[in-house]
Amino acid sequence: MSLKLYNTMGHKMEEFKPITEGYCGFYGCGPTVYNYAHIGNLRAYVFLDVLDKTLSVLGYKVKHVMNITDVGHLTGDGDDGEDKMKKSAAERHQSVLEVAKFYTDAFIKDIDALNIRHPDVICKATEHIDDMIALIQKLEENGHTYMAGGNLYYDISTYPDYGKLANLNLDELKAGAGKRKVVVVDDNKRNPGDFVLWFTKSKFEDQAMTWDSPWGRGYPGWHIECSAMSMKYLGKHFDIHTGGIDHVPVHHTNEIAQSEGSFDEAERAKGPWVNYWLHNEFLILEGGKMSKSSGNFITLQTELPPEKGYCLTSKGYEPLDYRFFLLGGHYRKPLTFSLNGMDSAKASRAALNGRIAKLIDKANSSENLGLTLANFEKMLADNPYEGENYAKFKEGLEADLATPVALACVQKESNGKGDVKAGDALSAIYKMDKVLSLSLIENGIKVLELQKKEADSMADAHAGDPEAAEIDALVAERTAAKKAKDFAKADEIRNALTARGITIIDTPAGPTWKRN
Ligand code: AMP
Ligand code: ZN
Repeated sequence: MSLKLYNTMGHKMEEFKPITEGYCGFYGCGPTVYNYAHIGNLRAYVFLDVLDKTLSVLGYKVKHVMNITDVGHLTGDGDDGEDKMKKSAAERHQSVLEVAKFYTDAFIKDIDALNIRHPDVICKATEHIDDMIALIQKLEENGHTYMAGGNLYYDISTYPDYGKLANLNLDELKAGAGKRKVVVVDDNKRNPGDFVLWFTKSKFEDQAMTWDSPWGRGYPGWHIECSAMSMKYLGKHFDIHTGGIDHVPVHHTNEIAQSEGSFDEAERAKGPWVNYWLHNEFLILEGGKMSKSSGNFITLQTELPPEKGYCLTSKGYEPLDYRFFLLGGHYRKPLTFSLNGMDSAKASRAALNGRIAKLIDKANSSENLGLTLANFEKMLADNPYEGENYAKFKEGLEADLATPVALACVQKESNGKGDVKAGDALSAIYKMDKVLSLSLIENGIKVLELQKKEADSMADAHAGDPEAAEIDALVAERTAAKKAKDFAKADEIRNALTARGITIIDTPAGPTWKRN
C-alpha cells in the first residue's frame, strides 16, 4: 500500500508522491491569536498532527511549518469587519502584542495537552513583514496589483486560474455573485472578488501596528502572510498545505493567486506551488457552527465566564478524552460535538487503558521489568513485533488518514485475544500510539499502579480484620468453584458474603474483598 490523500485541488483521492524522495514539506494555517482556541479550531490541529505522524511512521522526514496570525485578520474574510487583534486588545485593555503573546502561550498549552507535536517552524506574521513586502513587490512587477483609495489590491482578473481550488466561476466572482457572494461593497475594488495586499488607509485611523512600505505606512492583508512564510521556509514548491474547510473559497484561493502570481516563467514551468491541498471538515455543535466571535464557546482547558461558554476539563474530561473523541471521526466528515459523545469517548478510553493495564501486568509478571514507563518503553522499542492489527492500522491511515479504523485496530489489539504474547501486543500498541498519541503505555501503567495501591490498602485493612482468614478462604473457594464452572456454588458463596456486608472485587492480581 501507499499513502492516498484526498486532494481538494481536483477533488479526488490521489497517491501521495513527494517532490523529494523520502521527504515531505507541509504548511498548515495556524491560529489567529486574539482569543483562546475553541475545540473546533483544535480539531484542525489534531488532524494536522495525525498527518504529521502518519508521514513519519511511513518513513518520511517531515518539515511542518505553521503560522501564527498576529496581524491583519479581519472579522470578515473578505476584507470586511473589524481587525480581530485590535478588537481583542481594546476589550482587554492591553497592547496587540501582549494579547498575541498571551493567546499564543494558551494555544501551545492546548496543543501540548492534546499530545500534538510542535511544528518544526512556528512563524509569527509580525516577524515576517519584510518577506510579505518583497512578495507583494513581485506581484506588482508581474502586473497583478493596483492602488485604489490608498490600499494595494490584487486584481483577480489577471490570474486566469483564480478560484480553481474551490471551483469558483470567475465571471460570477467578478460580479460579486455565485458561491462567494459579496456582501460588503468596497468601491475601490475593480472586481468584488479582488482583495487587499497592503492597507494604508484602513477604516481604523488608530491602527495599532503599522510598518513602512513602498505603498506607504500601513499593514498587510491577511492572506499574504501564509504565501510569504510558507515559501520562505518550504521553498516555492512544496508538498502539502492544510487548513479548515472554511479556508477553501477565500483564504486558500487567495494564497494560490498570490504565490503562483509571484512566479517567473521558470518557476511556473516547475509546477504548482502546492501539490496536495487537505482540508478538515468542521466540528459542529448540535445547535450549529461554532465560532470565536459568537460568545458560544467551548475551550479545552481554560475556564470561561458562564455567559461565554465552558471548558471540557471543568466538565470532568481529560484533554486526551477529546483527542480520542476526534480520532473517532474521519477528518473529512463533519463531526457533531455533544457531551454524550464525550461521555462515550471517556468511557471507551478508560476501558482501553484498563485492558492495556492487564497486558502490562502480564508482560511484567513474565519478564519482571519493574513497573516504570522508561523500562517498558525500552522493552517495547526493542521489540520488532508488528502483527496483523498493526498492518491494518497502517492500511487505514494510508487510506486518507482513516483514524476510526486506526482506533478500531488498537482496541482489537488490546483485547489480547489469540496467541499473541502480552509483550508483543504491547509492542503493536506502542507503535500505534506513535500516531494516536493517547499516552497508552503511560496510562496503562498508571491504571495498574492505582489498582495495586488499592489492593495494598485493602490488604492493610484485612490485616486488622479478625475474620480475614475465614473470608480469604471463602473467596478462594469461590474462585475455585468458578474455575470448575460450578457457578451455583460460586454464586452461593458470593451471596453469603454479600449478606455479611462483604463485596468481592476483581483485580489484575486476582479477586479480593472489602467490607461495605
Ligand atoms: P482561526 O484561528 O480562526 O484562524 O482558525 C484556526 C483553524 O481552525 C483554521 O484552520 C480554521 O479553518 C479551523 N476551524 C475554525 N472553526 C472550526 C471548526 N468549528 N471545526 C474545525 N475547524 C475549525
Ligand atoms: Zn493561511
